Amino acid sequence: PAETVHVPLGDRAYDIVIGPGVLHDAGRRIAAVAPGAACAIVTDENVARVHLPALSASLAAAGVRATPVVVPPGEASKSYAMFETVCDAIIAARMERGDLVVALGGGVVGDLAGFAAASVRRGMRFVQIPTSLLAQVDSSVGGKTGINSPHGKNLVGAFHQPRLVLADTAALDTLPPREFRAGYAEVAKYGLIDDPAFFAWLEENHRAVFAGGAARVAAIRASCAAKAAVVVRDEREDGDRALLNLGHTFAHAFERITRYDGARLVHGEAVAIGLVCAFAFSARLGLASGQDASRVAGHLRTVGLPTAIRDIPGWDAGAAAILDAMAQDKKVRRGALTFILANGIGRSFVARDVDAAAVRAFLDDAL
Ligand code: NAD
Ligand code: ZN
Repeated sequence: PAETVHVPLGDRAYDIVIGPGVLHDAGRRIAAVAPGAACAIVTDENVARVHLPALSASLAAAGVRATPVVVPPGEASKSYAMFETVCDAIIAARMERGDLVVALGGGVVGDLAGFAAASVRRGMRFVQIPTSLLAQVDSSVGGKTGINSPHGKNLVGAFHQPRLVLADTAALDTLPPREFRAGYAEVAKYGLIDDPAFFAWLEENHRAVFAGGAARVAAIRASCAAKAAVVVRDEREDGDRALLNLGHTFAHAFERITRYDGARLVHGEAVAIGLVCAFAFSARLGLASGQDASRVAGHLRTVGLPTAIRDIPGWDAGAAAILDAMAQDKKVRRGALTFILANGIGRSFVARDVDAAAVRAFLDDAL
């Protein structure tokens, strides 16, 4: 049985449909939001192998003309070159403005396909079928699309909301376990931001979430609802949406220092360590209790995520290097850093003028 989270964005409102097997029903649901439209299905080689046949069959059964556009897997595909390839493939497939771009895959495919959808013919209709846990709970919701520049990640893109998001929770069964765990860090993040009951529920039910079934659907539904609520309050990210960056000032520094080498550290793993740091730092500042900080680290460790900087393979950077990496992040102004800190589990807030010396002292102890 599928559940629906509605995202009430006025004339761009859309539904997120979550449940095991919704992929097999995609043709009917897509035809319902875009009657008569054809589809360009953007996907990557890994996902095409395991899930494209079911999507193609479902679209064919619904009488929808579909053309697959398959890109290599991995962050490197969020490039100018691949953007050009995808846009041209959509045009070559004779897609008109009213037709659909469908992203079938993780966040890489969603960001790339979404930016192509925003650009080809000045904006085509867009459907997300996220197949990684991270994409189901984070990147497919909110309308941010884009690619990387040689100068940094996600520097070129557009806001482009999907018409529909189909999150097939059973499609996650083929995801490598490491990728599932990484996405789970973002799920836990929603509890830590403002929903202590959800975090406590995860502490009790994480095994069932990993196993699949109703608990997984419930965790993804709660995460999508949390992200959707923030997006609706702050679609263009000028205020509230910053809370979604809990743990991310630290995480982005760790990813930068490990050169975005997924073999060493994937985003969700960096977020897990970042969440632990955000709570340990909050405890050190006397904001959160040491007990809450231990609960955060304990839970993430229990599910198999890294929770300390020394857990990162080959780590050799000191506090100064981490602060340097943070200073290259956009949220820095003259020696003061913006962090999301917390007064406890589910009680996070934006702290605008965090003293770099306090961060340095914290990191010196943490290393
Ligand atoms: P990803 O898209 O690279 O997917 C991870 C790996 O899993 C890939 O190798 C992929 O081929 C494989 N995969 C995906 N689904 C699978 C499945 N069901 N079965 C087997 N293999 C599968 O990475 P990701 O973690 O999904 O997304 C990361 C990207 O998302 C980053 O580029 C990040 O910038 C972006 N992102 C965007 C937003 C946003 O708001 N737009 C938010 C967060 C992250
Ligand atoms: Zn993240």
